[in-house]
Amino acid sequence: MDACPICDGVQTAFYARQDDYNFVVCRNCGFVFLLPMPSAAALAAVYDDAAFDVARYPKARSRMRRAMFRALGLWPHFFRKDAIDVGCGGGFVAESMRRLGARVAGLDISPGSIAYAKDAFPGVRFFEESFETFLARGETFDFIHSSEVIEHIGDVKSYMAFLAGIARPGARVFLTTPDIAHPTVPEDVTKWDMLSPPRHVQLFTEATLTRLFEAHGFDIVKRYYKKNAPTLQVLARKRV
Ligand SMILES: [Zn+2]
Repeated sequence: MDACPICDGVQTAFYARQDDYNFVVCRNCGFVFLLPMPSAAALAAVYDDAAFDVARYPKARSRMRRAMFRALGLWPHFFRKDAIDVGCGGGFVAESMRRLGARVAGLDISPGSIAYAKDAFPGVRFFEESFETFLARGETFDFIHSSEVIEHIGDVKSYMAFLAGIARPGARVFLTTPDIAHPTVPEDVTKWDMLSPPRHVQLFTEATLTRLFEAHGFDIVKRYYKKNAPTLQVLARKRV
């Protein structure tokens, strides 16, 4: 049960302790994850923000600007296609893709964020539900955007099965997540703000992220390296 979700290896070593949570590192593939992993319900409870003020989203204007910039760079992958933003928050990237010609859905488990998104961006179909529930709808997409989501999820295998399940053959997935092997990560990793359980419960390197995608029917077709930011950004293609 404690096996590495990337390589199924069972040999782990202590990696770091942060706020009473233990991170371990897989001796086989180098993947860093919480052990024990909190339950899905415990992790989801972190995002239960029903009291969120729907009228105001923090920094909405700059979020929209950054979202448009992000979407412009990915535009050929979703123009006149079916796209979804998984972990869409307030819906800024979803709305940006819509403005640039996609038919768009947005999915998030945060009630406050989805309430805001529905109100602010009526041209996008938003869903406030878990990825398991959404998968059961049977909808599929040509393009999937999922930024800073996978590191929050306890069961990465289920998450990848979900992405594979909603991706059409040949679909592109643009995914971003913190890069624990990035040169800007402090030597004392507990000083790194991305090592933040129970929000961030697993941390990838380019090698572990690539291995995970390949194990779930995707090939990485492009990598975007950010010299000054500890982030992994990849474009994956679902095998046909
Ligand atoms: Zn491993």
